[in-house]
Order: sequence, then C-alpha cells, then structure tokens
Amino acid sequence: ATNGPAKDTFTSTCCYCGVGCGVTVKKEKDGSVSVAGNPEYPVNRGMLCSKGLNLQYTVNDQSDRLLYPQMRYNRSMPRQRVSWDEALQRTAAVFKTFIEKYGPDSVAFYASGQCLTEEYYVINKLIKGFIGSNNLDTNSRLCMSSAVVGYKMALGEDSVPVCYDDIELADCFYVTGANPAWCHPILWRRVEAHKAANPATKIIVVDPRVTDTCALADLHLQLTPGTDVVLNHAIGRALIENGDIDLAFINDHAEGFEQYKQVVFERTLAEAARICGVPEEQIRLAAQYIGSAKGFISMWTMGLNQSAVGVDKNLSLLNLNLITGQIGKPGAGPLSLTGQPNAMGGREVGGLSNLLPAHRNLANPAHRAEVQQFWGGTTLSDKPGLTATEMFEALNDGRLKAIWIICTNPLTSLPNVRLAEEALKKAKFVVVQDISNKPETLAYADVILPAAAWAEKEGTMTNSERRISHLAKVVDAPGEALPDAEIICRFARTMGYPGFNYDSPAAIYREHARLTAGTNLDISGLSYSVLQEKGSVQWPYKVGQKDLGTPRLFVDNIFYTPSKKAIIHATPVSFRSEEPDEDFPFILTTGRIRDQWHTMSKTGKVNKLKKHISQAFLEIHPQDAPRLGIVENDLVEVESRRGKVRVQARLTSNIKPGVVFLPMHWGKILGNDLNRANNVTSGAFDPISKEPDFKYCAVRVDKY
Ligand code: SF4
Repeated sequence: ATNGPAKDTFTSTCCYCGVGCGVTVKKEKDGSVSVAGNPEYPVNRGMLCSKGLNLQYTVNDQSDRLLYPQMRYNRSMPRQRVSWDEALQRTAAVFKTFIEKYGPDSVAFYASGQCLTEEYYVINKLIKGFIGSNNLDTNSRLCMSSAVVGYKMALGEDSVPVCYDDIELADCFYVTGANPAWCHPILWRRVEAHKAANPATKIIVVDPRVTDTCALADLHLQLTPGTDVVLNHAIGRALIENGDIDLAFINDHAEGFEQYKQVVFERTLAEAARICGVPEEQIRLAAQYIGSAKGFISMWTMGLNQSAVGVDKNLSLLNLNLITGQIGKPGAGPLSLTGQPNAMGGREVGGLSNLLPAHRNLANPAHRAEVQQFWGGTTLSDKPGLTATEMFEALNDGRLKAIWIICTNPLTSLPNVRLAEEALKKAKFVVVQDISNKPETLAYADVILPAAAWAEKEGTMTNSERRISHLAKVVDAPGEALPDAEIICRFARTMGYPGFNYDSPAAIYREHARLTAGTNLDISGLSYSVLQEKGSVQWPYKVGQKDLGTPRLFVDNIFYTPSKKAIIHATPVSFRSEEPDEDFPFILTTGRIRDQWHTMSKTGKVNKLKKHISQAFLEIHPQDAPRLGIVENDLVEVESRRGKVRVQARLTSNIKPGVVFLPMHWGKILGNDLNRANNVTSGAFDPISKEPDFKYCAVRVDKY
C-alpha cells in the first residue's frame, strides 16, 4: 500500500509496457507534472526504465495535442472546428443511417491496449450491448491474441498463472521470442538481481538475434525464425527421454500426454537441431536445465505471438510447463509478457471481437443471455466481430462502412499497411479519437475527437501478473479534450441508448466488477476505494476478500477446462509464413528498440529518448552484406511482394545469416513512409488467434 502521498502528489501506473510499474505523479506549481518511481509499489520498488523516467515530458509537451473536435461534411472540404454536440450528433446520425440501411455490422470500433479498463468497458457495452454488433477489436490483436488462445486451449481460460514474486523463487528461466532487457526492462532487472544473488539460476534465451537479454543467458539458442514449435517439441522429447517429467502431475491433472509423446518422438533431436539451426547439444542442455529445475518459469512475448502459427508456438511452450508439472506452485509457471499496459484489462472486459465481459464466451448462448440481461440492451449477436486486419479488409471491399479509431495508429502498426491506407481512403466514414495531431489516420478522418491523455483522466489498468492498479487524474486535459470513456458515454446517450449515465469512472468500474461475479476472474469485491487503500491487487478478488488478491492460480491443480485438467496439446508442426525464394531470399523479422514505444506518438517527442537510436535501420549479417556490395551505413532498399523500405544498413553478427531485422516504430514522416517496416510485412495471420505474422516474411535487400 502507498503511504498517503502529499496532496499535490498522486499514485499512478506507467502507461507504456505491461510490466505495469508504479509511479508517483506530482503536480508542480506551474501546472506541469513530474514523475518518479513509486518505491512502495511491489512491481518495481521505485525503479523505472528509460521510457518511464521520461513520462513527464510526454504530458508536459502539449505542442501536438488535439484541442477541440473537428469535422468535415465531405472529403473535398477542409475540416473545421465544431462543438462536441455537433461532432457527436453528426457521428450518431451517420452511424444510425448505416445501421438502419446495412445492419449493425456495417460499423466498427478499433481501440487500443492503452485504453483504461473503464474505457474498454463502455466501448464494449456500446457496440455489443446496444448497437448489436461484435465489431470491436483492439491493437491487442497484434500483440497478445495468440497467448490468449494458448491459455484458453491449455488451461481452460485466458489466465496468467504466476506473479512477479515467482521470479525470485525460480531457478530456471526459458525466455523465448522476447527481449525483456529492452522491452520489459524493470521485470528483467528483477531477473538480473535474482541471478546475481543466486548464480546457479539458469537462463535460457531463444532468439534469432543476439540481444541484450542474451548477456544474462547461460545458454542462447539462436534458432531460425519460425522453428519454435520444432525446438519446443525437441526439448519436450529430451525431457521425456531423460525421465525429467512429472508423471504424477501428468496422470492426475493433465490430458493428452500420450498423443503429445507420439508427436514429439516423430523427429529425432538431430533432425530438430538441423531444422532449427541450433546445435543438438544445446537442445539437450536446455532440457537438462529445465529438467533439473526446482522452479521453472517460461517467459515470452511477440516472437511467439506474432506468427502465422502463433497459437501452436504458445501451446508447444505451455507443454513444457505442463509435462514437468511446473505450474501452480511457487517459482513455476508460464508468464506471458504483455506488450501493452492494459491489454489484460481489455481482455477482462471482453474487449475483443470474439469475447464477452469477464472472459465469457461469445459462442455460449447462456453467457450472451447473462450479459444481455445485465446490460438491458439489445440481443447480443452470436456472430464473431471483425478482427483488426479483417476490419480494414472489410473497409476495402465495402462490407464495413464506418470505423471509429481510438488511441491507436494503424497506419504505422498494421501489417501490409498500404492495404490499410487504401481501406481508409475507401471508408465511407472515419472517426479518429486521439490525443495527438501526429497519427497518419487523421488525414482520413471525417470527425476528429480530442482525448485526454495519461494523468489527465482517472481509471484502472491490469498488468501482466493480473495486478489491477488505479491511475489518478493529476491535471486537466488541454482545450476541450475529454476522457475517452466520457466521449463514448456522451455518444451513446446521443444515440439514445440508456445505461451510459455514469457519474464517475468509479461507477463504470463498479458495474464492470459486478459483472464479473461468479466467474473465474471474479473481482466483485473490488472498488476504487479498495484499490486506493491497498495500492493494487491481483485478481480474482471476491466479495469479502481482505488480502492483496490472488498471486498465483491453479495451486490446487484444478484447471478451468471441462475436465478440470490441463490439456497437453499434441501440436503438429506446420508452417504458414511466406517462404523465401530466389527473388526474395531473406527472412525479415521486426521488433522494438529500447527507448521507443510503439508508433512513437509519445516517446518520439522526447529528445533524450532519441539519443539511443534516432532513425530506422536494417540489421544484416556481415556474411550477407558483402555479396550485395553493402557496407556499414549504406542506404539499402528492403523490398517484399507488398512494398519497400529504404534505411541505413547496420552490419552485425548478432543476427543469423539469411535473416534481417527492421524496427517497427517508424511511420510516415513528412510524407515519407520509407522508414515504415509495415510496408513490407506480410498480411498472413494465425488462423485461430488472427494475430499477424510480423516476425516472418520474405524480402530482398539491395544497395540503393
Ligand atoms: Fe514503464 Fe514498462 Fe518501463 Fe516499467 S518497464 S517503467 S511499465 S515502460
């Protein structure tokens, strides 16, 4: 719990990654804010990374802020300043026309893992409960949806079983498809400190690149991109051969082991090693480290999730925890590292096109009826809504007429982004709700709605360990900007829908909490006052609970599946990405750099954060570059079947030969989009999670 900060100082949570560090935000006399790590917050104990340490600059620099609503009646006219009433009445009139003429599925909302839980809740209630469509998706689709499906299939529900305090109790970490030293730095500092105090702790890193995370690794498996399932199966086979599995757990608490065993024994370790491009002895050593661990934690993020086989990759990893019985006990379990600060909160309220509140299932008629009765609106549709990339396909082919984009920048972040640009040109009506005048989407907006930023509004978020925290409002939003939840509620009332008359974010939260009662993520005992008193809690948190919530799930080895057993999936090895060929011989993988956040609309404003890396680049191996006549800092053109990128080359043996890497942050700058990695990425996605394949596509590289 916090100690009751001084009256000009408030507690909040960093709005960048899913680690969810606690901060104190001080309102200075000149109206600016200053930010410090909260020493009493259990996640970070006062520490902040470079992004968190510079949070105040993004709030204090208001040079790019949208200050009032703007609108245009047709695309040949300039947008003009209008009142909130005018903007919302016009938007409501257009939405009503489309809904009446083409049905509720002709409109959609595309939101963000940076939205607060209350914001997600009212958007979800509006579209699913009153408009009658499930066309709400968020950029979490680009981030964690493969992990969501993996958890549901293996454990019965989207539930991260562990807590961060398990880090200090584990003695083996398998970090795959992640570079937490850069992307989840404060969590990684905890792993580093634990390893320093306990040098026998084993750290295995799986990545096609040598990243800063590898500096701590006892073993780095530098696999060929796309071969994760083969590698995880090979480790599974070695664990079985060594007798390092937990047969009691498998027999009593899991299903599917015999089928799994058959699948992993289809390939020898030597064959797997050849496919993955790693030495066989390294696979054996990884299995030995995992097999001899008392506490084994697997950690992963986009390298597994952002794949055309992302669900298979997740399942093959979860299997390693299940066959060793390393789940539901201190220092053990799978820990997915959430990319965005509140992707978890969004999932909790059902803020994806296939979800309902409190992890209820859209396909379940009883769940739909429960939610409909609670909201008292229209009958909930059983048709899954459009996912992120599907929304833009549907705008392109005319099925979708109107899109409302909230707190996200799809013209930098979507794969094969030029298709998305075409889609927004063809859209009949585009609403953009944002804090900044920078996103490229604004060029296509018929209505622009100015939103309040972090520290200018109140709400809650959930981090990667199910920890719910309260974020205080510290300063007023500039101009006429409003909190996102208030904008949505005003719009809903303009549409004539009842049930959007909340007097505060706390009232929205109370309703959300009530709707979770009796579910596996029951937080019906939680309110703003509990959160403020305790600082933060981990769900579930039922009525009458007095502690700090539930740090660890499945301690009784009872899972959320119908049989109450965990499911070991005999995941087949499949490959659905675009294969390299003669014309496009390199594998391109994309990712983040240390000091920038997503599409840089906030961190890009901070000069200090540009000092680390100031421009986009291509990593290429020194064995590959000379064949192409490329030397360090040459301008190179990276081309795929979809588009081009033109950036400077960085020669580094930190990447595998045949593989190249582009950072994902840069978009269109002053009309130039040639830094934008997503010009070239593939539109392929996982067939179940619908998460795009950002980590694998075929490109050619030429000196420009
Ligand atoms: Fe913010 Fe994540 Fe850095 Fe913590 S680790 S300060 S949550 S960006």
